[in-house]
Amino acid sequence: ILIPFLGLVLAFCFYSARENFKPEMLKGKRVIVTGASTGIGEQMAYHLARMGSHILVTARTEAKLQKVVEQCLKLGAASAQYVSGSMEDMAFAEHVVKEAENLLGGLDMLILNHIGKSYFSYFDGDVGHVQKLLQINFLSYVAMTVSALPMLKESGGSIVVVSSMAGKVGFPFTVPYSATKFALDGFFSSLRQEFSIQSVNVSITLCVLGFINTESAMKAAADVVLMSPAPKEECALEIIKGGALRQREVYYKYASTKIPLLIRDWAADFLDYLVRKRYNVENLKKN
Ligand code: NDP
Repeated sequence: ILIPFLGLVLAFCFYSARENFKPEMLKGKRVIVTGASTGIGEQMAYHLARMGSHILVTARTEAKLQKVVEQCLKLGAASAQYVSGSMEDMAFAEHVVKEAENLLGGLDMLILNHIGKSYFSYFDGDVGHVQKLLQINFLSYVAMTVSALPMLKESGGSIVVVSSMAGKVGFPFTVPYSATKFALDGFFSSLRQEFSIQSVNVSITLCVLGFINTESAMKAAADVVLMSPAPKEECALEIIKGGALRQREVYYKYASTKIPLLIRDWAADFLDYLVRKRYNVENLKKN
């Protein structure tokens, strides 16, 4: 009886000792947001703008990025700029970081959020697609991290990696995507260990997201996934808060992400069954 009680007391002390988030934490901070032309990335740019950050956004579609930059400036960003290009090309990934150095003179937070287009259906056996998606969703994250590390070490900055429940648990119909998200967990969780051993003062926050109401996710999965999506605006804010507080992981929404993961380690088959129950496979056939 005593051990669980002491555990609860310790957990309570830990949570009450945690620093609270304040928007001023981001004021004047130099931040890169990738995949910021739409969806959660776009919303993160707007939150950072309201908080007064220097923002560098990137994605492929220049016209959309221009609009995001305009809106960021209206919302109060200290500065807002964009670089357009594809993360399929590692030289471009490195170029974005170089641009942050040239334009912002350093970097405080690197938010890695972009994903390449994939399909929502049974795995089709296309190895080339898996390779391409690994390049966009995983290798470019590695390349940007490597290029940004000298600046992040200097600022004592943060790396924020946007992942998914599909990067923690086997989900059907997103096999190539899930592979890239599991890869992120392996790379960044191992790197975090090395940072700790070497006393590198750069935090790594892995964000485990459930179903979010972005246009692309709704288009791909709304008819098949039997869950109500969470709002992208709130999701974007929770990611920024987690990064600013240097949290190890962010779970959004908590109940639909953290609780299934507690089940996973002692009842994996049961969790797999619950996951399968969340899909209307009939509708998938019409896709
Ligand atoms: P969106 O599809 O809305 O946005 C993806 C972004 O990536 C866009 O800005 C897109 O812009 C950019 N992008 C696409 N291809 C490339 C490329 N080749 N090179 C560079 N940029 C590219 O995604 P969401 O907002 O829905 O998702 C954001 C993050 O959240 C992702 O990491 C995703 O895995 C994660 N997540 C989302 C969930 C959801 O339900 N929405 C659930 C779990 C995790 P452009 O086309 O202009 O290049």
